[in-house]
Amino acid sequence: MEYNVAMTEDLEASLRGFLLHDPSEEDICFAIWFPSAGKNRFTAILYESILPESGDRERHGNVSAFPGFVDRAKEIAREAKGGLAIIHTHPSGSGWQGLSHPDEYYEKEVLAREVFGVTGFPLVGLTLAGDGGWSARIYEKLQGKRPTLQWCKAIRIVGKNLTVQLNNHDLPIHNLGESLIRTTSVWGPYVQSSLMRLRVGVIGAGSVGSLVIEILARLGVGEIVIMDFDKIRKHNLDRLLHATIKDVGKSKARLARTYARKSATNPNFDCVAYTTYSIVEKEGYVAAKDCDVLFSCVDRPWPRQVLNHLAYSCLIPVVDGGVSFKTKDFRLIHGMFRAQTVGPSRPCLNCLGAYDAGEVQMDREGAFDDPVYIEEVRKIGAEPSRQNIMPFSVGLSSLETIQFVELITNIGRTGDLGQQPYDCYTGEILPIHTHCKPNCEFSGMVAKGDALAPYLSRDISKNRETNSKKSRK
Ligand SMILES: [Zn+2]
Ligand SMILES: [Zn+2]
Repeated sequence: MEYNVAMTEDLEASLRGFLLHDPSEEDICFAIWFPSAGKNRFTAILYESILPESGDRERHGNVSAFPGFVDRAKEIAREAKGGLAIIHTHPSGSGWQGLSHPDEYYEKEVLAREVFGVTGFPLVGLTLAGDGGWSARIYEKLQGKRPTLQWCKAIRIVGKNLTVQLNNHDLPIHNLGESLIRTTSVWGPYVQSSLMRLRVGVIGAGSVGSLVIEILARLGVGEIVIMDFDKIRKHNLDRLLHATIKDVGKSKARLARTYARKSATNPNFDCVAYTTYSIVEKEGYVAAKDCDVLFSCVDRPWPRQVLNHLAYSCLIPVVDGGVSFKTKDFRLIHGMFRAQTVGPSRPCLNCLGAYDAGEVQMDREGAFDDPVYIEEVRKIGAEPSRQNIMPFSVGLSSLETIQFVELITNIGRTGDLGQQPYDCYTGEILPIHTHCKPNCEFSGMVAKGDALAPYLSRDISKNRETNSKKSRK
């Protein structure tokens, strides 16, 4: 199991502001965290800080929290039904910090046991160095056993940008090699090396997803997780990258993985293809929580809603895109594609109108696979259009991967490019910058992790069987 800590940019800034306010001595505080349990990665998501009041601590070069403060922090975490994290500083340190023997003894042998007893969650320990470098550990506690120290692999800070601080970020970066010279020269080897350690999920390996995967592989990302249970059909051949008539009937995810491995420029590239998982089912949802960033290349409202949920509750930014065409008697009335990135500090897919909340329930009930329902909505012209052309898929995959690059590298110095709609009548892309509506349920889910799970399908086989016409392997 890999361990991570994640927090929003806002919480990180306020913790840093408090803890490094007077760097002449060490300082201390606590935080509530919620779990986000993936298939191979467990993330402790920091939710809210618990700051000391006067008389709560003694600063004497080092710092000690008095028992009253520790007890209050444990009680606040218990009441919130979350875990407790202890955070202290090393003002003269830089980068990843180790743990002194007294610190390790106190965290592991004293506090971790007490905290597990009170909250039911393992203690999380963090150290903030004077240069803003975070390091983190989790004290895994099994029934009847002593807590064990597990160092986290990374700390993810999520907002307008995604910053991943790695526990070996002071080590020499990858040997980037000649194949990445042109890419690396745009943002430098440090940014490129963090890009080369990202695990990116692509949900849907259709016309847009297959192109996104190709671009990510060439950009040098560390790992791509592909999720699509669909098979290639003849009517995909006008848009699906690498697919030929010989591939009809084969798995879209597996085809994309084959070519991603061929195109990858990262010498340590890894690629996983889930050919039976769906994001609206538990296995797919859990596997998606292993990713640092997700691409939403789906065309249904329910999977979009689940991805929207993940972006806020589990702090995994989601890059989403959609294509819409309206035609009447072979005449185009409307043609548009748009890209947007959602997550903390950004408006959500629901508020951006990327899916219709009312249609989510119909999707859950299987209405979009029901021929009677499809005929009904077709009559009134409300059927979601499945029309698309390859140039739109290429344009959209380009916009989506540019949004991803901005999120990671900040080369445009905004982090957030807004919602970018391309209108085929005017040929313009006029970005829209907006906010979530008041009382948006998703902006209230930020950092709640598994404490607020989305509605998932209970009948694992039903969706897939109807969607992919019994294509399960
Ligand atoms: Zn220390
Ligand atoms: Zn919203």
